[in-house]
Amino acid sequence: MKTEKLSPQLDKNAIKTAADLILAGEVVGIPTETVYGLAANALNGAAVAKIFAAKGRPQDNPLIVHIADFEQIFDLCPAVPASAKLLADAFWPGPLTMIVPKGSIIPIEVSAGLNTVGVRLPAHPIARDLIRTAGVPLAAPSANTSGRPSTTTAEHVLRDMDGKIAAILDGGACGVGVESTVISLVGEKPRLLRPGGVTLEQLETVLGEVEVDRALYEKIGDDIRVSAPGMKYRHYAPKAPVTVVRGTPEASAAYIAAHAQAGDGVLCFDECVSTFPTCVTEPFGRSDDLPAQAREVFDRLRAFDDTAVNAIWAQCPSDDGLGLAVANRIKKAAGFHVIEL
Ligand code: AMP
Ligand code: MG
Repeated sequence: MKTEKLSPQLDKNAIKTAADLILAGEVVGIPTETVYGLAANALNGAAVAKIFAAKGRPQDNPLIVHIADFEQIFDLCPAVPASAKLLADAFWPGPLTMIVPKGSIIPIEVSAGLNTVGVRLPAHPIARDLIRTAGVPLAAPSANTSGRPSTTTAEHVLRDMDGKIAAILDGGACGVGVESTVISLVGEKPRLLRPGGVTLEQLETVLGEVEVDRALYEKIGDDIRVSAPGMKYRHYAPKAPVTVVRGTPEASAAYIAAHAQAGDGVLCFDECVSTFPTCVTEPFGRSDDLPAQAREVFDRLRAFDDTAVNAIWAQCPSDDGLGLAVANRIKKAAGFHVIEL
C-alpha cells in the first residue's frame, strides 16, 4: 500500500480526502495535541482491526475513541457518570481520556472485550475537523509500532507506518508530546490509569480524591490483570536498554558520569550535557522545564536508535505535576529499571 501524505496547510481538500478514506474503512495517521494517532472509524470493527495489524498491537489492548463535541459521548456510553461532565467542563478539549461504561454500538475490536470504553475530545483543530467531516468517532491509538516510542511528527509516523496505512495528515509537531491522561470513572472512586498532560493535581481539584493505579510505578507481570491493559507492556523503548537514575539533577548527573562507559547514551537535562563529554547525549529540556521535557522525551529516546550506543542512562524528573507523566514514560522505556539515589 502507498501511504499518501496529506497537508491541510497546502491542500484545502486534505481533510475531506482523509475523511473519505476513514469512511471507506481505511487507517489514517492524524496529529493531536498529545502525540500522532492512527485513526479508523470507531464504529467499524474491520477498519479498527487494521490499526492493530499496522501497529502489531496486542489484541487485548483497547483503543481510545475520539469525539469532536461533548454530546457525542452519549452515543458511545449508556450511562455517562456525573464526574465525566465535571471533567469535560474543566479539561475538554484536551489531553484527558475518560474510561466510562461502553454502549453496544462500540465493536469488540475497540474495547478488546472490556465492558468500558475510553473517550477523549482532542484539542487539535485538524483532529476535530476530521472527526466532524467524517461524521463518525475515531478510534486512535498512538501512531507507532507497538513497543516503540510514540510519534510526535509526521516524519516519525512514516518511519514506523510507511506502506502500512492509507494516509498521514501532517499537522507539524505535537504540542504536549506525551499521551493523554487516562482516568477510570467506572469504579467506586476515580482512578488514574495513565499520567499525561492533565496532571493528578488538576484532576484532584475537580474530583477530590483520585486513586493512582500501581501500574504507574512498577512493572506488572503478564499474569496480572491490570486496569489499563496497555500499562503492562514494555513501551516507549529505544533499541538499547535504558537505566533510569533518580535524584536531584546534580546527584543523578554525578552518578551517571561515574558509571557510564565511553560511548554510552545519556538522556539528560540541558544544563547537565557537559558532565558527559565521552557519551552520546540527548538533552530533553532543562530540569525546571517540564513542558519541554514532555515535548522532547519521545523524540530524544528515538534519536538513540540512529546511534551505535549499547546502553542508555536517563535522568528523570520528580513525580510532581507533569513530572509524573514524563517520569512514567522514561521508567517504562527502561522496563522500570530504576536506580533511586
Ligand atoms: P494508546 O492509545 O496507544 O496511547 O493507548 C491507550 C491506553 O488507554 C492504553 O494504555 C489502554 O490500555 C488504555 N485504555 C483504552 N481503553 C481502555 C479501557 N476501556 N479501559 C482501560 N484502559 C483503556
Ligand atoms: Mg501507545
